[in-house]
Amino acid sequence: MDDDVWDVVIVGGGTAGLTTAIMCASRKLKTLVLEGGVWGGLPATMYPSKVIPNYPGFPEGISGIELVRKWIRGARDNPHIIMKRERVLKIEKGGVVKTEENEYHGKTVVIATGTRPRELGIPGEAKFNRKDKGVYYYVTHREKFIDNRVLVVGGGDTAVDAALDLVDLAKEITIIHRKDRFRALDENVHRMEQSSNITILLNTELEEIKGTDKVEEVILLNNKTGEKKVLPVDMVVLAVGLKPHTEMFTELGVETDDRGYIITDRMQRTNVEGVFAVGDIVKGAFRLLIVGAAHGAVASQKIYEYIRKPYWAGEDEK
Ligand code: NAP
Repeated sequence: MDDDVWDVVIVGGGTAGLTTAIMCASRKLKTLVLEGGVWGGLPATMYPSKVIPNYPGFPEGISGIELVRKWIRGARDNPHIIMKRERVLKIEKGGVVKTEENEYHGKTVVIATGTRPRELGIPGEAKFNRKDKGVYYYVTHREKFIDNRVLVVGGGDTAVDAALDLVDLAKEITIIHRKDRFRALDENVHRMEQSSNITILLNTELEEIKGTDKVEEVILLNNKTGEKKVLPVDMVVLAVGLKPHTEMFTELGVETDDRGYIITDRMQRTNVEGVFAVGDIVKGAFRLLIVGAAHGAVASQKIYEYIRKPYWAGEDEK
């Protein structure tokens, strides 16, 4: 495969990046996918063993990692796709993509950089959030939590899923949320409320994480009463939302909202010619795997039209 100019350079090898690659290859577009971290994105890192209940076609459900394996196999076995483990540093106008090792040129570029867990920025977090010292941003290896006292922070689906996921393993679980009700799926909140092993503290914030070599206790603040209390815990799961990976396209001039999510049209085109965006990095996208895959299908069609200029291009937009 001549790799001077690619039809498509896809930045990010998560759900949306891999499925965009597979769809582009079905159009025989010469496709390069670049991933600096783990292939598969969030389903591979955040919830590999979780059964995904809402990815159609798998009535018994399918785990995050199984889906990722299928996408990787589909991309790797395809003669039109090359996958490279390289961290992208910068995307420039004119389809230039610079990595730590190389510079690539694409007729089109697809930004599929997704999101990563947000940090809370409280005292003690940075001291314990590496090398298994007790602060985590998601539950990947459930067995690590066996017989431990766990604090989960957050009111969204990630937090509630984490608490439910650990209910049979942890010694005790406390979940705190800064509001007086959860934003997670009602059904799961209800399951959590029924569990005798989960203590729910609302209107509560985490102020500090303390310990010598590992997490030993946390300081909680009730934001209604102002009361503080010390809770002994072994592990803290911070599930306080996601933030977009924006570093590599800040100078490209793609339009974003004030949080850094990319604004696209219905066809996944950004305001910069030849640059598309797919998946969780897109403003307003439902953060579901099926939506990332659907973005890939739409983008690949429009990339094909942009490059090959078939006589029917744009008919669906009239
Ligand atoms: P999220 O829905 O944005 O929830 C983040 C939670 O953290 C919110 O409750 C937020 O509080 C809280 N928070 C944010 N900053 C905080 C701070 N500084 N201090 C204390 N609390 C703070 O994030 P997520 O739960 O990771 O979910 C991300 C997306 O993935 C969502 O669309 C979610 O529905 C989806 N998801 C779905 C599933 C599923 O379908 N089962 C599973 C996981 C994730 P406020 O409520 O006050 O803003």
